[in-house]
Amino acid sequence: MIGFGYDIHRLAEGESLILGGVEIPSSFGTVAHSDGDVLLHALCDALLGAAGLGDIGEHFPDTDAQYRGISSIELLRQVMALLRKEQYQLINVDCTLVLERPKILPYKPAMREKIAEVCGLPIKRVSLKATTSEKLGFVGAGEGIEAYAACQIEEIPA
Ligand code: MG
Repeated sequence: MIGFGYDIHRLAEGESLILGGVEIPSSFGTVAHSDGDVLLHALCDALLGAAGLGDIGEHFPDTDAQYRGISSIELLRQVMALLRKEQYQLINVDCTLVLERPKILPYKPAMREKIAEVCGLPIKRVSLKATTSEKLGFVGAGEGIEAYAACQIEEIPA
């Protein structure tokens, strides 16, 4: 089965910028109830989607105080546990970040490593791309950041 996820967060000065579980030095960051890790949120939705298990908002409602400021790495761990419970194993993930700045190239290896560790995958099965939006729209204006993720899962043979 394949899964697809999308997420978007507003950017603001003074917030922290955590992407793929890695804190990136920046004067601005994502505005969110959790740590605002747009990349891991898209990935969680892709994983849940592949398994037909709904979306991240159903599992971790932003109205629930226990998820305030929660690390999205922890959310990803919980989503992976859900998949295992349903007898699914993950084959690969492929993610795309869309942001104008900062350049995330230097942080990609650490992000891939983190995702690989939590998802129990070899690094080569964790793909991460990044692009700008060519200064177009709200992403181009630096007002927001988007992430897309796809994954493949299969049922663990009995
Ligand atoms: Mg989100």
